[in-house]
Amino acid sequence: MGQQSRRRPVPGRAAILSVAAPTVRRMAPTALSPSRAGDFMQCPLLYRFRVVDRLPEAPTPAMVRGTVVHAVLERLFDLPAGSRTLQAAHELLAPQWERVRTEEPELAALFPPDGDDLAAWLSGARDLLARWFELEDPTRLEPAERELYVETTLDDGLVLRGYVDRLDVAPDGRLRVVDYKTGRAPREAFEGKALFQMKFYALVLWRLRGIVPALLQLVYLGSGEVLRYAPEQADLLAVERKVKALWTAIERAAVTGDWRASPGRLCDWCSHRALCPAWGGTPPPIPADALERVTGAAAGTAQAPGLDET
Ligand code: SF4
Repeated sequence: MGQQSRRRPVPGRAAILSVAAPTVRRMAPTALSPSRAGDFMQCPLLYRFRVVDRLPEAPTPAMVRGTVVHAVLERLFDLPAGSRTLQAAHELLAPQWERVRTEEPELAALFPPDGDDLAAWLSGARDLLARWFELEDPTRLEPAERELYVETTLDDGLVLRGYVDRLDVAPDGRLRVVDYKTGRAPREAFEGKALFQMKFYALVLWRLRGIVPALLQLVYLGSGEVLRYAPEQADLLAVERKVKALWTAIERAAVTGDWRASPGRLCDWCSHRALCPAWGGTPPPIPADALERVTGAAAGTAQAPGLDET
């Protein structure tokens, strides 16, 4: 297995992988992103609420800040190397917030015009950008790709897709996959989930380019930490087996209607707690076309890096 520079990752939840042989008909096309895969691993019922019931989720200031900061970090590399200063990044902040707010006017409601919330929110975004400059030097970086959409089809027809924040390519062809997180680095017990996302991207890039990325790098702007992992082929083959098993479990849940709640500490951030039986709620009836929604939704909604991807 590959080398990690900070702490060893914790394997993903084995319970998800111990599924029985598939008993459902594979419906094509089918696709999976690391976010939705992560949802199902965290809680099958959460996956159902998002993909099958398609329940809306109100954006939070932290989610929107993540989107805006990601946009600034992408646009900063449009500037000549010598101009990529912290001041330049700060100057990009307001226009990017305006762009996001124009595209999604309902976000303006997060910040009443007569309050100080917007100023505090922007200040927090400036702090995140400042922390990034302590971790990386953009004047010395020339990303090969930013916000790169990647997609590949596995041998069983399952499509893997997602957006890579940044891809660096060394002169000798080595790939470094970089993802920005505006939150804090997870405690050791939760590193596996973050690394699963990166290995997922590495698997897709390996299938697309025939090269195993040399380094996966998670940059945590909230806590000023960088988590690095050097994957090997065995890691990526393990992820491939995992996503195939995961998809089998998702299809089976769609057929049987058995979307189990898996309560845990992340329930505190779940938008659907009021409907969750683990918290005394009652979910809506499962739509009759649940399987079609799983396959069709997954195939038809290649998410742009959105509010839940930061
Ligand atoms: S509240 Fe917790 S257990 Fe219930 S759906 Fe959300 S994440 Fe799952």
